[in-house]
Amino acid sequence: MRLVRLALLLCILLPFASVAHASETPAEHAANVYAQQEMSAAPLHENLPDYSLPSDKLAKAQHLAKVRVALHFTAEAWGIVQLVLLLGLGAVAWMRDTALRASRNRWVQGYLFLLLLLLARVLLNLPLSLYGHSLAVKYGFSIQGWGSWFGDLGKSLALYWLIGGALVMLLFFLIHKAPRRWWLVFWVASIPIVLAGVFLAPLTIDPLFNQFEPLQEHHPDLVAKLEQMKIPADHMFLMKASAKVTTPNAYVTGFGASKRLVIWDTSLTKGTSDEVLWMFGHEAGHYVLGHVLHGVLLTLAILPLLLYLGYRLLHIVLARFGVGWRIASQEDWGALAVMLLVFAVFSVISEPVENTISRHIEHAADIYGQEAIHGLVPDPQAAVKQACDTDGESTLDDPNPSRFIEFWTYNHPAESRRAAFGKAYNPWAPGMEPKYFKKER
Ligand SMILES: [Zn+2]
Repeated sequence: MRLVRLALLLCILLPFASVAHASETPAEHAANVYAQQEMSAAPLHENLPDYSLPSDKLAKAQHLAKVRVALHFTAEAWGIVQLVLLLGLGAVAWMRDTALRASRNRWVQGYLFLLLLLLARVLLNLPLSLYGHSLAVKYGFSIQGWGSWFGDLGKSLALYWLIGGALVMLLFFLIHKAPRRWWLVFWVASIPIVLAGVFLAPLTIDPLFNQFEPLQEHHPDLVAKLEQMKIPADHMFLMKASAKVTTPNAYVTGFGASKRLVIWDTSLTKGTSDEVLWMFGHEAGHYVLGHVLHGVLLTLAILPLLLYLGYRLLHIVLARFGVGWRIASQEDWGALAVMLLVFAVFSVISEPVENTISRHIEHAADIYGQEAIHGLVPDPQAAVKQACDTDGESTLDDPNPSRFIEFWTYNHPAESRRAAFGKAYNPWAPGMEPKYFKKER
């Protein structure tokens, strides 16, 4: 048992150690202080010297900021309340009974129970999802029709059912075989599964929702510039995002042979300008610094702690409410809904921790991007500021969100913080050193 405690302690310390590892350089520190002072000096939700929206867009952004915060916390709270209602009103017990009546085969039972639970959750989440999409259409972020939108929802549901069903079968098999250690065995089993999932997702799942083509076919000039940032040409793809959205974006996904930089075609409406190159420099940062694999390893490192706490809480909840909810033990299919409830609570509590780590990683990519375009564009600082302005205008980002909302809900630093940081960050000034590149460039 001592060994288990030690392992759990390591799980807690590992993420903090990895975050603390990347120390702040003097140039970075100076720019961070500058950005923080600029944000603190400006009124909340108003324009800043280094990041501002035109007045009509500012009014929309201020309204949207309130709506987005309300939607965010409503969706989180509703995710928990709906599970409590499904359990408390006996709906989960009914789903379990239905699955048991349908067949004696455990595979049929497990898949049928999961299907009923997923359908109930999709239906209960539908009002918020519909509102979210209608808002995106109203403000021009999305041009996706309802037919295509429902099609994507159906595909997601089918994927959750098929892949989730296999995981549920494995989980309940391990619960049966190792009633006190399943959380540990499930974690070990999850390592190859998660790695395979991250490797295969860009090859098998992403193409179900969007069309991808080699970037080389459409923008060989851009590919040539990106190759200078150490990304192989055959690992760059163009996503036809314009079929559904108007907002720009890019991301890095996969690992090993499937690792790739994906650029949305909505990012290239202005051609390959300096600001676009910074955006790709940022993604090159994720690519070169191995952020996807780091994220996966961090998740796998913290997973045993979450599974152990989940296992303990499951038993506490079942002891208290199991009779009322008609869920007899952890081997009952209905225990899955209790586990989802426990993990929904975990996810709310861990949200600021996850987002803090994410902002840290995004900040590193911003620095990498700005250093990577030094020498490629005449004025990297202006390019960053311009990129943030363009991005903020197309997504109507709150110019100056409250520190609490940024801390709790933002997975990137606020657009204004990124803009002010970019404007002030100058590692080529006398006495300063770049973080990721040598100075002689
Ligand atoms: Zn990023």
